Parts: sequence; structure tokens; C-alpha cells
Amino acid sequence: MQPMMLLVLVMASDLAAAPRPVQRFARLTAARPCGLLRCMTLSHRITRITGGGPDGWDLFRKARRMIAEGRPVVELTIGEHDIRTDPRILDAMDAAARGGHTGYAAVPGIPELRAEIARRVTAQSGIATAPEEVLVVPGGQAALFMAHHASCDPGDGALYVDPYYATYPGTIRGAYAVPLAVEARARDGFVPRAEAIEAVIDGFEGRARSLLINTPNNPTGAVYGRTALEEIGALCGRRDLWLISDEVYESQVWEGEHLSPRALPGLAERTLVVGSLSKGHAMTGSRVGWIVGPRAAIAALEDLATHMTYGIPGFVQDAALHALRMGPAFEAEVAAPFRRRRDIVARLLAAQDVVRAVPMQGAMYAFLDIRATGLEGEAFALALLEEEAIAVMPGESFGRAAAGHVRVALTVADDRFEDALRRLLDFAAEQARKRGP
Ligand code: PMP
Repeated sequence: MQPMMLLVLVMASDLAAAPRPVQRFARLTAARPCGLLRCMTLSHRITRITGGGPDGWDLFRKARRMIAEGRPVVELTIGEHDIRTDPRILDAMDAAARGGHTGYAAVPGIPELRAEIARRVTAQSGIATAPEEVLVVPGGQAALFMAHHASCDPGDGALYVDPYYATYPGTIRGAYAVPLAVEARARDGFVPRAEAIEAVIDGFEGRARSLLINTPNNPTGAVYGRTALEEIGALCGRRDLWLISDEVYESQVWEGEHLSPRALPGLAERTLVVGSLSKGHAMTGSRVGWIVGPRAAIAALEDLATHMTYGIPGFVQDAALHALRMGPAFEAEVAAPFRRRRDIVARLLAAQDVVRAVPMQGAMYAFLDIRATGLEGEAFALALLEEEAIAVMPGESFGRAAAGHVRVALTVADDRFEDALRRLLDFAAEQARKRGP
């Protein structure tokens, strides 16, 4: 094969998996972002984080532009609460900062916070967890990034479930691993089947090293049950995979209960749990998250943290400690509006037959199947924005398995939310009517 042709193929797939001379050649000839011959090139690692091309965020940006122009758009795109961080938490942050906790803080997390997270995880999972099995990091996103760095070498396969949270493939590419999507079907409630996971592993020529799951799930609202988790866990054992379990929505469960796979027999040694205060405590901007895993993994990840972030601010950690000590009643209070709006969705969906949804078991979104309108998610979302000034995310931005769906964030006040959803359903009915039988 011609070297140039080989290079094009490699750029289209994954450079990490390519032979060394090809990697070197690709780096030498990498596209120069400024288009000038003497411009500094950026690393392949960084320029390939996003897949490129249009994505659902175009719609998000258009909605933001319309809002900036003063148009009354109902914003149901991203997972940001319509309440702000509780003043009691802010007071704790303020007191800590004014009390002098403004210098470098312990890189793996202040001991009290690590201990509090360990206590919480022990209580919830039943697995005795020590502070040394907890690393405090700047948000669930950093935890995802670091967990993939801990589990995968360059070129290793990292599995994730489609539909997926938008950053997953880029996070995996950022670790120089190869993103491998496992499709979860609507008819299975968007829970992946073990056979589908094994088929992807078997179809990958390299070594698969990790499987990322997310329950409660963004965007689908699925909550994985015990049987599904046991099957997934057994598969990870059989195929010697790390299980990366994204549990940032753990306190938003509307049906069934949240089960952390780390609690299942034999899984604690191969599971890295990703947690965060963003969703459960309405603290998205404070950037507090954690990884829970085996001691050796956490110790190695502490080295990564030392060289990457050098920890998170001490006064933010004090506020996080305060937030966690407010206990489950406070988390239920933060989750309550989403539960109410989820009930509104269920009620309105039951009164029509155009838009369908898998049961909304958890998290702060409704994931609506709009295929009966004859429109793709993207076209539906765009027309809904233009005609009704309602912004929702097209399913396609969450993967191939999410095509023909839109994700509606449950993030505006109940009356506005109900009105917007009614209009969305009327709009869908109108599209379906136009399409005919
Ligand atoms: N995982 C999932 C599934 C998410 O939806 C999000 C944020 N929307 C994150 C991780 C990251 O959350 P954060 O970094 O705010 O903790």
C-alpha cells in the first residue's frame, strides 16, 4: 500500500494502533492548524480528542445565540439544575477560604473528605471502603479521564455503551485508547447485553482493557438492575477488563434502586467508581468528584493527580465535606424537582401515542423516541427550536443507538416545563399528521 494511503487510513481509524514508523510519519506530516508551514504543530493526542464534524452541540450553540438575542427560548439542553448551590454550602466555602484554607491542599484530597466519601461508599455499597481507596479529583469528568489513563495503554480498546454521555469517546481518545462502542437497544431498555459486549471485544484486533458503564444513565434514564450488572461483572472477570462505573447520578433514581457494581462479589478489585457532587448536590461549578478503586490503583492515580492538577482547592473540599454531611435528606431535596418533572413527562406521554419513551428510571432527562414523526432527532430538534423556541438535544449527539430520539433535560420550573412538553408533544403530533399513515 502507498504510504500516503496508509496514513489516510490510519488517520481515519486510530494512530495509536498503527506500526511505529507510520506513527512517526503521521506526526511529522500532521495537519498544521494555522495552515502555515512554520506554524507549531499540536500533538496528535490533543487534536484528535473530538471526532470532528457537526454534532448536536450546534443546536445548543444556536439556542444560546437565540437567548443572547433576547428570544424567549425554553432551554432543555444541558444537565444544569435550575437551582444554585445551597447557601449553607457556600457559607462553608466562604468560612473555609476566610479561615485560611487557601494554600495548596492535600493532593489526594483532605483526609476528612476522603474519609467522608469512604464512609458514604461503605454505607451505600456494603463494601468496607478505606480513605486510601478514594481519590478526590476536579469533577466526574476528570475522574473519567484519569480512570481511562489508569486502565488503558495506548492502542488498548476501551468499551463504552452507546447511547452515551457526549464526552466519552473523546475522553477515551484523550487517553490514547481506542473507543469501542457497544450498542444498547431501546427494546432492551438501553441496557447493553453481554453478547453485544463480547462481540465488540472479539471484533477488536487489539487488547480490550476497560468497559465504561453509566447507571443511572445519561441520556437514556436507564437504571441497570442486579442481573444486568452481574452479567456485565462476570464478563469483565472472564475477559479481564477494568469496569469503570460512572455513578454521578446515583442519588437520582425514580424506579428500582441504584446498585454500584463494586458491591458485587469479586468486582471491587477491578472496578473504578466515578462519583461527583455536581448532580446530587447541585455543585456543578465547584468541580468536586472522586474515584473509588483498589488501593494500588488509587496510589498510582495520586501520582497522575500530582502531575496533572495538584489537587483541588482546600476551601472547595471543605464545602464538599459540608455538603456530604448534609446527608441523604439534602440529596433527596436536590433531586425532588426532577422527580416531579419526570412524573409530568409520564403523565403527558400517557395521554398521547406519537412520542414514546423507555421507562424513566433515573437521572435528570427524558429520552423521547420521536421516530413516529418521520424526522431524525436532529431535524426534529432544529424545527422545534425554530418553530416553538424549545431547545432539546438531538439523540444523534449521544451515539448511533440514540438516533430518532431527543433528550429533554428536566431543568426548568414545573409550570414552564409542563407547558414546553405539551408544546413538544403537540408539535410531534402535527409532524406525524403531516407525514400521514
Ligand atoms: N458522567 C455523566 C454521565 C455526566 O452526565 C456528567 C456531566 N453531565 C459527568 C459524568 C461529568 O460530571 P462532572 O464533571 O460535573 O462531575
